[in-house]
Amino acid sequence: MPKGQETVLEIDLNALKHNVTFIKSKLKSNTKFLAVVKAFAYGSDAIEIAKYLETLNVDYFAVAYTDEGIALRNAGVNTPILVLHPLPINFKDIVEYRLEPNIYSQRVLNNFITTSKELKQNNYPIHLKFNTGLNRLGFAENEITTIANKLQETQAIKVKSIFSHLAASEDKNEEKFTLNQIESFKNISKKIIDLLGYQPILHQCNTSGILNYPQAHFNMVRSGIGLYGFGNDKEINKKLKPIATLKTSISQIHTIKKGDSLGYNRAFIAKETTKTATLPIGHADGINRLFGNGKGFVYINNQKAPIIGNVCMDMIMVDVTNIACQESDEVIVFGPQHSAEDLAESINSISYELLTSVSQRVKRTFYR
Ligand SMILES: *Cc1c(COP(=O)(O)O)cnc(C)c1O
Repeated sequence: MPKGQETVLEIDLNALKHNVTFIKSKLKSNTKFLAVVKAFAYGSDAIEIAKYLETLNVDYFAVAYTDEGIALRNAGVNTPILVLHPLPINFKDIVEYRLEPNIYSQRVLNNFITTSKELKQNNYPIHLKFNTGLNRLGFAENEITTIANKLQETQAIKVKSIFSHLAASEDKNEEKFTLNQIESFKNISKKIIDLLGYQPILHQCNTSGILNYPQAHFNMVRSGIGLYGFGNDKEINKKLKPIATLKTSISQIHTIKKGDSLGYNRAFIAKETTKTATLPIGHADGINRLFGNGKGFVYINNQKAPIIGNVCMDMIMVDVTNIACQESDEVIVFGPQHSAEDLAESINSISYELLTSVSQRVKRTFYR
């Protein structure tokens, strides 16, 4: 990186390709691959990522909210897009932008049938979500007959897939619970397919489900975190490549004396002469305030520099007393060598949260 560069999130598209290849190597050749690109593709950039993934022939995309799907369509993404958490207020947009809604309750089903009829749709693709234990979104098993009856009364919509979501696919201690979820999904899908008289796509696995429960791949799998280089498992992490590197540089170095304070609220008081570096990245960029006061750290010239004092909106200060460094030297917050998961762990968080926290103020750059 050129010296003195501003804070950037660098995205390695080769690493993304590597991760897709690795995850696909765990699938049967006819299992479809849905790439989850919600939340700006886990904090990277949904449009760039989706466009690149289209060249790798993924079968489906998923986003959380309707606006995320609209942004992809406006950017020219043509692959089918499942909207995981659409709200009835979005249903006209869903149809207008050819997005495919997750239908998770009778209220939502009724609303979507109404909108599809108003917009004169025929066989509009929908995805039925069943609750098998996560208790977040989804129909209950005892609603199957009611749902099937409603579907038989209308030509406006057609079930493209039936799906469910695992609650603890990364946790071997919860294997029994997960196996129950898988059994329950099998029963539910069989019942609903019998009533519908046709075979929609079935899917249940997220990244950890793909890796730990091959018997639950069904016709399609949904991978999010794995694409971005994390597998919720130390061994798997060695085989995946984090795609994002968050970099910044040193704006100023100070040497403060024993007893001097640093930053807001004088939260850090030097116990001895201390060399500090001020960096142009703060809580408005995604560095949670919990990282302050010695919890979090960055890397300068490959050495660990703890974040000291309180995290400011636009800056952090780090202790570089024992690090040979100069103003404008490169700083790595996280990247392939210094994992986002380790940094997240320092505040009892997870890679998902740290990655998706990198705010839109931080410039994204892409390379291969
Ligand atoms: C976010 C999400 C995923 C992706 O999960 P990962 O653990 O990131 O692979 C899959 N399915 C649903 C329903 C989700 O909300």
